[in-house]
Amino acid sequence: AEPSAGAAVPQAGDPALTLLARVGVVDPASLDDYRAHGGYTALRRAFALGPAGVIREVTDAGLLGRGGAAFPTGRKWQATASQADHPHYLVCNADESEPGTFKDRVLMEGDPYALIEAMTIAGYAIGAHKGFLYLRGEYPRALGLLENAIASARARGLLGQDVLGQGYAFDIEIRRGAGAYICGEETAIFNSVEGYRGEPRTKPPFPVEKGLFGKPTAVNNVETLVNVLPILTGRTEETKLFCLSGNVARPGIYELPFGVTLRELIELAGPPATMRAVLLGGAAGSFVRPDELDIPLTFEGTRAAGTTLGSGVVLVLDDTVELPRVLLRIAEFFRDESCGQCVPCRVGTVRQEEALHRIKDRTGADAAGDIALLREVGRAMRDASICGLGQTAWNAVESAIDRLGAYE
Ligand code: NAD
Ligand code: SF4
Repeated sequence: AEPSAGAAVPQAGDPALTLLARVGVVDPASLDDYRAHGGYTALRRAFALGPAGVIREVTDAGLLGRGGAAFPTGRKWQATASQADHPHYLVCNADESEPGTFKDRVLMEGDPYALIEAMTIAGYAIGAHKGFLYLRGEYPRALGLLENAIASARARGLLGQDVLGQGYAFDIEIRRGAGAYICGEETAIFNSVEGYRGEPRTKPPFPVEKGLFGKPTAVNNVETLVNVLPILTGRTEETKLFCLSGNVARPGIYELPFGVTLRELIELAGPPATMRAVLLGGAAGSFVRPDELDIPLTFEGTRAAGTTLGSGVVLVLDDTVELPRVLLRIAEFFRDESCGQCVPCRVGTVRQEEALHRIKDRTGADAAGDIALLREVGRAMRDASICGLGQTAWNAVESAIDRLGAYE
């Protein structure tokens, strides 16, 4: 399908792009090319502002975390910076594993120095001298480019004992995940980096108080950090990266201003002839119907519509898709990825999958008993699980039953 009249698919180098402006334009292996395209002006500005000034600008810009939870970044940085306990740590969560999410990969592969510069600014703001970049193990290309970016930044005095000759010491170490979805949960990252099993810790205490090695830690997603560069260099309009996949003509990453509607976004990507549903926010998100496409894509707008923007997943399903199979696949995913540490999630994800297996080919009254069981198990997982995995493992299934009438 062609985009509707007036719609334009953003291309590399498009002046409307901010976060993706350099992706596909610069040589991701060249520090000189990065600098020739505006690289390291934000870090210079950060040093001119001082740590408190940087936090003020990020707070005033209203930056919300882009990993999925939309927590205010300025508040997180302020809370970390103000802790008396030292050292402070920065962790970049690059363990992008939400099904359908690939925006951080595009940023890291296309503009790796931007992340290194942004981490340096974040470290400076929170008073950290060490940053850990926790990278999804399945991103080997990003690994090579980031290793190269860190080494060349270090060689040129942009990391190390005296960054840019400003008397500030900061360095970055990459740690790779090993394929577990749960290791993207921020406290599981701490355990993984510290050499323990990648299992979440209970919160509170929040990482800003007791994080990596028990010390104050700010954990930020890749896209969140990269947003800091335009904030410090005079950006006016805030944008979001959306991950379009499924039955669209042009899947990929789209950078658009907040507030564009779901319909407008899908029009850009080329909608299917007949749409069955859209999964917003990934496996932890929820389905919406084709008659709900006027939802504005903001964190508040999606919340008000009873769904979530999450990490920006927009998975479009056409009418050839067998919904019960999709739901079963989501349930298998959560059962497989549960770390097994707490009962509601360890047992609940298994019970959920079993029930979905039983009702896969049933409808109406035949499915009613298992749907009641799913609701009970889903409530227990949401209310009593330790971390976000168990708390959200029933979201997509619930929305498919309630909004799409999956088994009617
Ligand atoms: P959360 O709401 O518990 O926390 C969000 C962030 O805010 C965390 O860094 C947390 O430490 C901080 N925070 C919350 N309250 C705080 C307080 N009072 N003081 C200081 N800091 C505070 O969410 P979460 O469990 O970290 O993340 C859930 C989200 O992760 C979901 O929205 C999901 O979509 C997303 N997710 C993303 C991916 C991905 O690949 N991008 C994968 C899985 C899940
Ligand atoms: Fe592990 Fe699931 Fe409990 Fe999270 S909710 S700690 S993934 S068992």
